Amino acid sequence: MSDTFRALVIDNVEGNQTVAFRDLSRSDLPDHDVLVEIAYSTLNYKDGLAVSGKGRIARRLPMVAGIDLAGTVVESRSADWKVGDQVVVNGWGLSETEWGGYSRFQRLKPEWLTRLPDAFTPLQAMAIGTAGYTASLCVDALEDWGRIQPGVGEVLVTGAAGGVGSVAISLLAARGYNVTAATGRPETHDFLRGLGATNFISREDLLAKGGPLQKERWTGGVDAVGSTILANALAQTVRGGAIACCGLAGGADLPATVLPHILRSVALIGVDSVMASASQRDRAWQRLARDLDPGKLDTLTRVEPLSKIQALGDEILAGNVRGRVVIDVT
Ligand code: NDP
Repeated sequence: MSDTFRALVIDNVEGNQTVAFRDLSRSDLPDHDVLVEIAYSTLNYKDGLAVSGKGRIARRLPMVAGIDLAGTVVESRSADWKVGDQVVVNGWGLSETEWGGYSRFQRLKPEWLTRLPDAFTPLQAMAIGTAGYTASLCVDALEDWGRIQPGVGEVLVTGAAGGVGSVAISLLAARGYNVTAATGRPETHDFLRGLGATNFISREDLLAKGGPLQKERWTGGVDAVGSTILANALAQTVRGGAIACCGLAGGADLPATVLPHILRSVALIGVDSVMASASQRDRAWQRLARDLDPGKLDTLTRVEPLSKIQALGDEILAGNVRGRVVIDVT
């Protein structure tokens, strides 16, 4: 094991937030019970905000960025984990309050680790990443609502060509739902059709001004965008339908009324992946292992070196990333 390794560190230098590569040693890492040698991390929207400095994601400094990671346990003081175990970590405050995955090594609390399903390599787990795992939590939430059936009506996925959206389409299509993809990028239609989308609606159409109760269309939905698009999606949801919302790529506001909820019993289900329980995580990862076609996963994945992370951060914030970007930290 090398003495020093490279990590992307957010810090405060003379009152200014800086984001720079730094050489760390194992003694610099937090004193948690499990040391993981990281193989891959990913690029998520929140990582884009963190590494570009455009969002104050880190709540204490210095902070190693990267909200998720996959790798191998190399030291453990926990009875639950042994050397050689392959693990994945999503959320738990990584890159916010806890040091994260843009590093060759990280020390972590045992309870933050999820066992890597046999179906996936570390690279595939990070191709799924927090975005894909969140998409899986959203589909779980829709199924728990209990009133949406595969093959009956249309399920809407917004931000379709992004990380959450593309995995949500794959998971819903695998269970037999008719998926309509909402995207601002018509050039991604073939890609999205390949994942299982059967119908498309443009971002502009979903942004168009509409009343609080519009023509009923969606039996359910996964929303990664928020704002006007979510408000319109709710206003177009059928009686008893539900939208699982997890993102704010289009804005954190919600210019909506209560009418879809009180007149059509429409549900808005919030999904937070960061503090999801271990059982929610296991269930979401089991769905991914069962329903995500590794061949499709490869079509929505590209691998980039950690050295390019800042340019990649700008790319995801500009809405130009298609599918998932895996970050090779080796
Ligand atoms: P991506 O950038 O990969 O995808 C977001 C997609 O949203 C884009 O590809 C684009 O889709 C669409 N989009 C972007 N900007 C706009 C805009 N201004 N108006 C309308 N649509 C837009 O991000 P992720 O998929 O990784 O994440 C999506 C959202 O989910 C983010 O807000 C992220 O913070 C959030 N998130 C939340 C989690 C949670 O725990 N709640 C966990 C993970 C992510 P298209 O080109 O198809 O139109």
